[in-house]
Amino acid sequence: MASHDFDVLIVGSGLAGLSAALHLAPTHRVAVITKRQLHDGASAWAQGGIAAVLADGDSFGAHVEDTLVAGAGLCDLAATRFVVENAPDAIAWLQQLGVPFSLEDGALHLTREGGHSARRIVHSTDATGAAVQRTLIDVVRATPGITLFEQHTLVDLITARKLGAKGSDRCLGLYALDEATDEVLTFRAPQTILATGGAGKVYLYTTNPDTATGDGIAAAWRAGCRVANLEFIQFHPTCLYHPHAKSFLITEAVRGEGGLLKLPASAGGTRFMPQHDERAELAPRDVVARAIDYEMKKRGLDCVHLDISHQSPEFLQEHFPNILARCAELGIDITKEPIPVVPAAHYTCGGVLTDLAGRTDLPGLFAIGETACTGLHGANRLASNSLVECMVFARAAAQAIAAAPAVELPELPQWDDSRVTDADECVVISHNWDELRRFMWDYVGIVRTNKRLERAAHRIALLQGEIHEFYSHFHVTRDLLELRNLVQVAELIVRSAQMRRESRGLHFSRDYPELAAPAAPTILVPPVA
Ligand SMILES: Cc1cc2nc3c(=O)[nH]c(=O)nc-3n(C[C@H](O)[C@H](O)[C@H](O)COP(=O)(O)OP(=O)(O)OC[C@H]3O[C@@H](n4cnc5c(N)ncnc54)[C@H](O)[C@@H]3O)c2cc1C
Repeated sequence: MASHDFDVLIVGSGLAGLSAALHLAPTHRVAVITKRQLHDGASAWAQGGIAAVLADGDSFGAHVEDTLVAGAGLCDLAATRFVVENAPDAIAWLQQLGVPFSLEDGALHLTREGGHSARRIVHSTDATGAAVQRTLIDVVRATPGITLFEQHTLVDLITARKLGAKGSDRCLGLYALDEATDEVLTFRAPQTILATGGAGKVYLYTTNPDTATGDGIAAAWRAGCRVANLEFIQFHPTCLYHPHAKSFLITEAVRGEGGLLKLPASAGGTRFMPQHDERAELAPRDVVARAIDYEMKKRGLDCVHLDISHQSPEFLQEHFPNILARCAELGIDITKEPIPVVPAAHYTCGGVLTDLAGRTDLPGLFAIGETACTGLHGANRLASNSLVECMVFARAAAQAIAAAPAVELPELPQWDDSRVTDADECVVISHNWDELRRFMWDYVGIVRTNKRLERAAHRIALLQGEIHEFYSHFHVTRDLLELRNLVQVAELIVRSAQMRRESRGLHFSRDYPELAAPAAPTILVPPVA
């Protein structure tokens, strides 16, 4: 079967991928390859909003400064300025496309979030991502020049080096598994963009959707690209803990409105935040997450409790209608009882190392959105800076692709599965998924130690051996591909954490509790095959 030929392949249909597709569609034949449906991904789940300097009295300098402070000395200044200065245009572009942002007196309504020194968060009530994603999907579907491949999972990138070609390496295309036929298809193009999102699913508890399995990061690494700052995983302090509630975020506004963190009744039922920080429940996100983690690990608890039941039912209905309704569905009446919560992996600050146009180390390969490490987030992401980063780098990558010289591509070999069979026991995959996510949570979570990282590294090596064998002998499935990628990303997170002999931003090590100088990113270089 011949390859599917395009000018540009885009893997991922979140804000980063769809923005790039729209910028390229007028001049290029674009394929958007996405492993579930178009709306599946973190972008549609974003709640708060998008940061941009739009208010009188606010300035690019202030937004840059706030980002640098959050990033704890590791933000790249050029990348930060680039995003901040292009953010207002990105918002204007979304408005032109028709995103229904919240307005006040006919102008964009701006909220303020933690870490921002001014009101600069553009939003669509408390479901910004869903509004943006819906609009983009409508426009993409109506745009000629974009071919959509839903339920197609990237298996691996095809590079000149992997084909044994002499001379310089480049990305030539990719293999993708078509869920409908179980066939692995070959896609060929001179330019490929990875926009596959983050890797939150590497942890037992995460606010991320099921798609966040680090596929783009792992594929780029296997193709020879450097990755950076992967030890910096942002944990949200309060995610609902319930066997049937996957990834439901309990907004920090609950603590802002007087919610108290308590031990479960079986452990005494008392408040614990005052013993950890004088700001108690109102301490910053990472301090609260660390305190909860400490109490859970010390006492062997499954969760802690967030109690807002002292507020009136009317107040809760007015301020937290979604949380009230979701908890009620699960049998938790938050007007009378506390909400069981755990901290959860929320955002992958590191990723595939790129320049200001989203170029990776491999010619013909770009990475944008949460998959990339552009230098914007440093050691900790400032709230609402990630959606805007997706759009700014999508446009920059599209411009770089439009200016790129033409490339002659060779014929690509078809996927060869003549020597593999159907897996005998799929339970191996689900077992390894569970094991990986649990030990990453226990050993490479919010508080790290040398010993915990060593333990994790040891287990990862065992899993890698087992998964490699599985991958070599059996037909690929999406679960297997995701597990293979998750284990790869887990290894990179652990190695990055082991290299950082200090505590900075989101990385906290009990063995190195202080900051070390000078501040430097953690860059991992793949082995040359
Ligand atoms: C609950 C929540 C709330 C958030 N709130 C905010 C906020 O208010 N403001 C803010 O700025 N940020 C917020 N974020 C972060 C922000 O949503 C993400 O960083 C951003 O949406 C990432 O966009 P993306 O396009 O890079 O990835 P995603 O939107 O995650 O899209 C990734 C795409 O890649 C596809 N994909 C993945 N692997 C493969 C594969 N192997 N083959 C094919 N396709 C693949 C997925 O299916 C998906 O379509 C929030 C995140 C979460 C989880």
